[in-house]
Amino acid sequence: MKNPKTMNNNETSKTIKNVSVWDLVPHFTNGNIKVGNMLTWNKLAGAGYLLGVLGSCGEFCKGGCYDCKNPMKSPCYVFKSYAQYGASVIDSHTINTLWMRYKMAQTFTILNKQLKKMKKSKPIRIHASGEFESAEEVKGWFRLAELNPSFPFYVYTKAYKYVDEAMEDWMKLHGKNIPDNFYINVSIWHESGVEFYHKWEHVDNIKAFVYNDGYDYAGKLEMKCNCPAYKKETKVDKKGNVKERVVLKHDLTCDRCKLCFINNKGAKVISCLDH
Ligand code: SF4
Ligand code: SF4
Repeated sequence: MKNPKTMNNNETSKTIKNVSVWDLVPHFTNGNIKVGNMLTWNKLAGAGYLLGVLGSCGEFCKGGCYDCKNPMKSPCYVFKSYAQYGASVIDSHTINTLWMRYKMAQTFTILNKQLKKMKKSKPIRIHASGEFESAEEVKGWFRLAELNPSFPFYVYTKAYKYVDEAMEDWMKLHGKNIPDNFYINVSIWHESGVEFYHKWEHVDNIKAFVYNDGYDYAGKLEMKCNCPAYKKETKVDKKGNVKERVVLKHDLTCDRCKLCFINNKGAKVISCLDH
């Protein structure tokens, strides 16, 4: 396997090159060290081309978590996993991205069949990597959640425009808000996302997930609940300088915490030290 750090962005990865992507199957992945025992749905991260395929995060990550000049050095945790685990992870995200982008209806049919075959339901984290690319895609997930009411679905999103359009359409078509087992965590950073959250905050399973870097949200958001997965740690270096950093607590995973995918008025706005 070629080291992705040295891959040319126009190269296609080995798996995708040797077989048609349509012979490969879109798929959920089992959880990870952060989310615990759940299913995740992942697409290609970033806003540029990786191995010949455009990432799905679009405008939402430019200038922040994604470094378009040097993607593999992006602060985004997904790129860190691409650098660490290589083409197998990139291929997996690429397959899902291409299926969802070009064969959306079939993708949801396949995912529905996969869920129906499972003996036990689990939470489903949509986009541990990637983003929504259209309102149609958001509505596809609403439909999948309706067909599988025992699975809690949840997502963090900055694709406010697509989610807004999907929610408006859903209300017009069904006369009700999004499915009870679908939770949308509006990713908020400073001014971004605040207005969209306030438009929909009356819907029980719409939450605000706020990156708390010390910005003053006074009057705009009341943060009463903290994500318990992160903590601040201070260290004193050899010169006596005190350094603070945010670390992940490995003893608490999202499948146990559940704050992002349960209806809990105290956890309507969740503040998080990392994102
Ligand atoms: S997956 Fe999230 S953090 Fe990573 S580039 Fe996309 S929007 Fe940014
Ligand atoms: S609040 Fe809980 S469920 Fe949400 S990200 Fe933090 S640990 Fe996970």
